[in-house]
Amino acid sequence: IIISENIVKSFGEGDEKRNVLDGVSVEINEGEFVAVMGPSGSGKSTLMFALSGMDGVDGGKVVFDGRDLSELKENELSDIRRRTMGFVFQQPTMLKNLNILDNIILPSMRDNRKNAAKIIEKARTLMKKTDIAELEKRDITQVSGGQLQRVGICRALMSNPKIVFGDEPTGALNSKSAQEIMSIFSEINGEGTAVMLVTHDAKVAAWTERIMFMRDGKIVSEMRLPKFSGTNIDDSRMKEVTEKM
Ligand code: ATP
Ligand code: MG
Repeated sequence: IIISENIVKSFGEGDEKRNVLDGVSVEINEGEFVAVMGPSGSGKSTLMFALSGMDGVDGGKVVFDGRDLSELKENELSDIRRRTMGFVFQQPTMLKNLNILDNIILPSMRDNRKNAAKIIEKARTLMKKTDIAELEKRDITQVSGGQLQRVGICRALMSNPKIVFGDEPTGALNSKSAQEIMSIFSEINGEGTAVMLVTHDAKVAAWTERIMFMRDGKIVSEMRLPKFSGTNIDDSRMKEVTEKM
């Protein structure tokens, strides 16, 4: 679904100039579940922004669904992003004066006001799936971190994306909530959606089938794991991951 060839992204000028992405070639397949790990500042978020077309690159190219992102006009790019990609961040940004349901449906309503009933129905299905159905009228400021992240996931899934990008989606959560959120990502992936997560947490990465390690703007190694179909990461799965690390 995404192929990047030798992408380079640099920040700064003159002597200060450095490559934050220093020739990254990756391929992410349809339905794949991948994690990116690496030290702070190694370029993980920058890579995610580049692969999703949120940010342009200074060298190399990114091909999404057969289309070179650099050849698209801004409106074509935003169209692709809106229709085929979902985004989940560490701290989801919500509109504080709206309830949960309204926060989930707002971006879709902006896109297509005519299908309001369908949009609401879709949101309710997702809220049920993520276990927040009974909270739909709840003020967005009155939820726990784990619940807030579920709202973020529902919002990201409203367009039935082909791929969901998550930048530290469990970073603000305790480990129990983090594992619950991961079981949701796992379920989404099990239904065929590709998922790419950036994480510091090996126990989060252990849910995926491929872990890429970044250092200084490069992917320095990669680990493949059998697809995980369980409901929680146990010692044997962790052992499998840490042995390969
Ligand atoms: P973290 O784990 O802390 O989130 P990361 O691996 O996601 O780190 P990036 O956010 O991709 O790291 O940043 C990589 C490097 O690029 C950092 O040194 C950062 O300071 C630099 N950088 C990122 N965005 C910009 C920008 N807009 N302007 C200048 N430098 C930037
Ligand atoms: Mg980051």
